[in-house]
Amino acid sequence: MAVHRANDTIAAIATAPGTGGIGIIRISGPEALTLLRQLFVSHKPHSHFTSHQLYYGTVMNRAGQVLDEALAVYMRAPHTYTREDVVELQCHGSYLVLQEILRTVFERGARPADPGEFTKRAFLAGRIDLTRAEAVVDLLQAQTEKGALLAVNQLRGALFAELEQIRDHLLSILAVLEVAIDFPDEDAEIFAAQQIQDQLQTHLIGPLERLIAMAEQGKIVREGVKVVITGQPNVGKSSLLNTLLQEERALVTPLPGTTRDTIEERIAIRGIPLHLVDTAGIRLHHDPVEALGIERARQKVEQADLVLFLVDAQVGWRETDEELYRSLGNKPHVIVVNKRDLATKEQIASIFSRFSGKKVVAISAKQQEGIDELQEAVYQAIIGDGAELCERMTCAPNTRHRSILHKTLTACRGFEAAMAMAAPVDLLAVEVQSALDHLGDIVGLTTPDDVLDVVFSQFCIGK
Ligand code: GDP
Ligand code: ZN
Repeated sequence: MAVHRANDTIAAIATAPGTGGIGIIRISGPEALTLLRQLFVSHKPHSHFTSHQLYYGTVMNRAGQVLDEALAVYMRAPHTYTREDVVELQCHGSYLVLQEILRTVFERGARPADPGEFTKRAFLAGRIDLTRAEAVVDLLQAQTEKGALLAVNQLRGALFAELEQIRDHLLSILAVLEVAIDFPDEDAEIFAAQQIQDQLQTHLIGPLERLIAMAEQGKIVREGVKVVITGQPNVGKSSLLNTLLQEERALVTPLPGTTRDTIEERIAIRGIPLHLVDTAGIRLHHDPVEALGIERARQKVEQADLVLFLVDAQVGWRETDEELYRSLGNKPHVIVVNKRDLATKEQIASIFSRFSGKKVVAISAKQQEGIDELQEAVYQAIIGDGAELCERMTCAPNTRHRSILHKTLTACRGFEAAMAMAAPVDLLAVEVQSALDHLGDIVGLTTPDDVLDVVFSQFCIGK
């Protein structure tokens, strides 16, 4: 990210590229109002712009030509997103016109905003903490409703509030320790070890562990999991992929990087995004290439978080199935007995009997039977013990949060161990202070600039 003066005036198109109903140009900084006066003429003559009020008028370039009709709003600092003076122009959509207007704004002295710079300013002005700034990105990138919901919670400060509570408890322990340091002659019982121990477990270690667990689930909800469908030719892999896609109303775009012999599609099961891979591509279907060697199937399977292993119920379990199945190793998988519409009960039962204690589901990809049960099995396989947590999650800490939460937890455990050894009080205080410092990194109190740059570089321009 380039180095800029912190308080110059920045501008960008805030709406997504493409043709929309309206497009918004956002300007933030000390010159925002001056710029508005220069390039916007209100239809109702007036002497000044009242803050937070909409004005209807025309936008002009420097030659005085009308570029567009627009609604303009001037928002006086500090009650704005960036806590600076902000102007927004709601224009008529066309991206070309928006760019033309933006050029005029630049000609008059504003500078193009970096990706995420509005949000970065909001953060630097102390309006939002870092977890909320990051939630803005999560919200933009959410793949499912659940992901979006968690991002909104986080934007409203759900994670921040949890961290604040942890911080309060650390501070209260630190206060007690400091009294003990300042008055060493008082009885050592000045701080009640048992009480601190309880506080540590209930209000620090417990919540930190829960947040770390939520981060693991959060990664799943945010990024999804890779599910690979494998099995011998003709068992119904592509049929299953299609059936799962049909179930999903909000379809799917093929991902870039789709290779010649795999197809990757996206669906969601109960709020979890799945990247679904057919080990033999749909388009090349029934091409000789489909006789995919065991080695290549294994490669696909290796990258999978979960494998759906298909077998043809009517054909039954063959040597080739066995061979491919063994190549799964201990990869998490669900065995899917397909074409149950063609098979007898005995045929299906004979395959089930091979896998007692394992997850087996009988379906018909073609007749679309057993698909709910399969989806449930997939959900369980992905979420496992975390199902309850996943359902009750209030926010989704990201990997940056998770690594700092780990450090905080380690410091808390260090404190616990030091207490158990009756370490000197000033040493105890060091551990608590270290936990506090780590927490500060999460919300951005003490975060170094390069970390901030990484966080904000994930944004798009105009946010
Ligand atoms: P793939 O080679 O594993 O991708 O298998 P396909 O999805 O291409 O299916 C092979 C053949 O089996 C096709 O003719 C499908 O219509 C048929 N098929 C797939 N699933 C079922 C099913 O559940 N029931 C029946 N009756 N036929 C199926
Ligand atoms: Zn296929």
